[in-house]
Amino acid sequence: MKTLICTLFTIFILSCTMQAQDIYKGFFLKNNVVAHRGAWKNTKTPQNSVASVKEAIRLGCAGVEIDVRMTSDGVLVLCHDDDHFGTHVDTHTYAELVITKLPNGENIPTLDAVLMELQKQSYTRLFLEIKPLSTKEKTIKSVEKIVQMVNSMGAVPWVYYISFDYDAMKKVRELSPAVPVAFLGGSKSPEELAADKIGADYHQNEFGKKPDFIEKAKKLGVSVCAWTVNSGEDMDNLIKQEVDYITTDEPELLLSKNAQTCTSGAKK
Ligand code: MG
Repeated sequence: MKTLICTLFTIFILSCTMQAQDIYKGFFLKNNVVAHRGAWKNTKTPQNSVASVKEAIRLGCAGVEIDVRMTSDGVLVLCHDDDHFGTHVDTHTYAELVITKLPNGENIPTLDAVLMELQKQSYTRLFLEIKPLSTKEKTIKSVEKIVQMVNSMGAVPWVYYISFDYDAMKKVRELSPAVPVAFLGGSKSPEELAADKIGADYHQNEFGKKPDFIEKAKKLGVSVCAWTVNSGEDMDNLIKQEVDYITTDEPELLLSKNAQTCTSGAKK
């Protein structure tokens, strides 16, 4: 009895000292599907909406990608383009942007609302794209605010940072040394990325132009993801090359391919 109590006490202490990242590491889904701007296309929800994020979670995607920008008064919002229905995001306040709703009636979503939604479950992660803003200074300020929000909400295990701005990725790496970070731009070699501890999340055509990229990156421990892959043939090709994640507007199709691969036992 005494041994049992000691063992249970030890397990309790170990559990308490584990970082949240360790606790959740094994929980997230292992498929390679990242729903691009949420699962919007076949669900008739707006891109970059809370509804499309919820649909990606409901489908069982390993990841859901969103685009994040900062308003002139420092609010982090989801928006792909530099304007929200004609209103420039980083030179207007949140109050000015919220006047125009998404087609489903949602206000322009805030990052904290989406992080709260993600934290209700531990299967789907967030691929958080940090958009380059109108000046480098604003971009770096938005990086600081985003990382601070993710950290303070205890959302670190859910977040995979991506950006076309290499300086933004380096800033995330400086602020959060252990989080997954990947560059979208396609211009860095596996060696450069390995030196900066940054992954590659490149347009699928980049891998055709550089046929040895994936193999080299894997040898160097650089993660490899591809975007935006919507045809079944292209998905098959990237699955064969065992990239880590594939971003797509057709998550249902890619999920069905994952299910087929698992059934046939072809993928390790
Ligand atoms: Mg994006």
